[in-house]
Amino acid sequence: MQLEQINSLYSLLKTPKLFGRYITNSHIEKCLNELPKSLISVVGYSVEERPIYSLKFGNGPIKVLLWSQMHGNESTTTKALFDCFNLFDTGNDIPKDILEACTLVVIPILNPDGAERYTRLNANDIDLNRDAQDLSQPESHVLRSVYEDFKPNYCFNLHGQRTIYGVESSGVSATLSFLSPAQDEERSLTPNRKVAMSIISQLHNMLQSELPNGIARYDDGFNLNCVGDTFQNFDVPTVLYEAGHYPNDYNREDVRRLMFIAIIKGLLVISNDVNSFGFEDYLKIPENSKSFYDIIIRDAKISEDNNQLTDVAIQYNEVLKASKIEFVPTVEEISMLDEFYGHKEINAKGGLVRNAENLELKVTSENDFVLINNKKIALKP
Ligand SMILES: [Zn+2]
Repeated sequence: MQLEQINSLYSLLKTPKLFGRYITNSHIEKCLNELPKSLISVVGYSVEERPIYSLKFGNGPIKVLLWSQMHGNESTTTKALFDCFNLFDTGNDIPKDILEACTLVVIPILNPDGAERYTRLNANDIDLNRDAQDLSQPESHVLRSVYEDFKPNYCFNLHGQRTIYGVESSGVSATLSFLSPAQDEERSLTPNRKVAMSIISQLHNMLQSELPNGIARYDDGFNLNCVGDTFQNFDVPTVLYEAGHYPNDYNREDVRRLMFIAIIKGLLVISNDVNSFGFEDYLKIPENSKSFYDIIIRDAKISEDNNQLTDVAIQYNEVLKASKIEFVPTVEEISMLDEFYGHKEINAKGGLVRNAENLELKVTSENDFVLINNKKIALKP
């Protein structure tokens, strides 16, 4: 069915200009230059006066608003969007179905200042996804005014999540996560919420063969300061997409393809007369849980004078250096971590684990290497 078709198209249209984690306005401008000018507009400016771009595709009656990189360091969905734009440019049946049924307005980087500095927050240190009521930031105004002018029938709120998330306690990384946000304190199953749930259920079903058990759903605690909750509250079915970690994929190129599939499938579902059919399946999707670290060193002796064994959790700090993201291994926790999984697990088998200078490991210390019984073990991805 569609999955094979979408996959076979993908290798032809993945845009090589976008790669890795650091994606800014200057990266996407190189791609925008290759697209017809008539598709592109500048819908506003960030705190530091960087342009916020929007693209319009299709001319169907169903209006879908998509935005990405509201959090500046969550770039995977932006890469996937540009791959989608390349798909739209082909005469294939899949994009034809979508673009005849829908009009899409897409904001690929809503927070260009955060993208530039590789932060979640904008240049005023505000989380735009907590500013949906205050609208205190220019970027929040841009999204709201695009929303008000366009009056979408559906919204896709595109994000990325840290490597710490797994699918419940299964030990499988939550490579993709979704949410149909609540729109009231009671988390009522309103008609539009059910429609968003149905879209997610259909995505989930299609992606099972690609990602067996690697899809989770976020808890639906209500917060009207979040943009998704607000738009859902306006009775517009809103789907939160989260690109997570796929094994060994720190550049997020594998999950980029999966996200591409998920966005296209979401649009296909909408194009084919979506209703709330099958929304109950959404409730069976396992929940996202904080159950991973990047590395866990098990059964470590960390001090010469204490024979008690413990575990050491290491998380990569993502540091922007010379326009690249460096993954800096940082000790996050030293305790028994039976409830947690490591994307990489190292068993010290009771050996003495020290830092590269042969000193005791400390929480928050950065270590490219550790010594296990004096043997050097590299920690970088
Ligand atoms: Zn986010």
